[in-house]
Amino acid sequence: KVVFLNGRFINEDEAMISPFDRGFTFGEGIYEVCISVDGKIVDLEDHLARLDHSLEAAGINPPPERSMLSGLMHDILARNSIENGFVYIQVTPGKTPRNFVALPAERSTLLISTGPAQLEGSKAFKNGMRVQVLPDIRWKRRDIKTTMLMPQVMAKRAALNAGFDDVIFYDDLGITEGSSSNVFMVTADGALVTRPVSHQILSGCTRNTLIELAILNGMTVIERPISHDDLSNAKEIFLTSSTYLVVPVVELEFGEKAITYSCNETKKLQGIYIKYLH
Ligand code: PMP
Repeated sequence: KVVFLNGRFINEDEAMISPFDRGFTFGEGIYEVCISVDGKIVDLEDHLARLDHSLEAAGINPPPERSMLSGLMHDILARNSIENGFVYIQVTPGKTPRNFVALPAERSTLLISTGPAQLEGSKAFKNGMRVQVLPDIRWKRRDIKTTMLMPQVMAKRAALNAGFDDVIFYDDLGITEGSSSNVFMVTADGALVTRPVSHQILSGCTRNTLIELAILNGMTVIERPISHDDLSNAKEIFLTSSTYLVVPVVELEFGEKAITYSCNETKKLQGIYIKYLH
């Protein structure tokens, strides 16, 4: 497999990064995951705009290839013969002395890689997920798509060990988001509810597209926080992300409670989203 690292396409086995890269020493880094469907990168401009937002907010210099990213992403898919799969982009500030605040490196480190993705073929897409509700122990700038993912890894590992498929987090205002997805609820009267974007959640590209599609299809979309009580009264819950697409939550566990949900509305939205993709 070929990856793009710091200006070159190279075999992944030959790709090397300095141990003094700030991505390694300080965990400083941001990323994007996009999908390609039939050779077309979905919501590409939205992902690149969010990449710029993350770089700016994190104070990381854009890589020199910033203006060529779209071409490079298509190139890496072609070089690896992938039409349907993911493209991963990571940027870190590069190699500097180990000072918290150092002069910028000569160049930020840029990695682009690609691989297969199951998308609508996944078991989760078809059958839904069992999800555990856990406190959000992350920092307070969740709008930055940082590679600093330890809280998500720890929570997801605990959930998987307890027999669940994934996690959704809550803070003082209610549900924030999934470990790597946004959360929607379908109310008893068929409206969609999801938390408004702020520093407390990632502005999901799939979330934003799905909201537009739902409105175009005559649905009511309300952006407000979702409380634990809302979860108890919800008709359906689902998750969105670039690689999940739209995944039904068929069971939710919080505290001592376990709630099961139907997924008729979610299945309809899956249909609408798949039509958008192809
Ligand atoms: N929230 C978090 C924390 C995520 O990691 C992701 C996945 N990128 C999302 C939401 C969904 O974002 P998107 O739809 O852009 O993939």
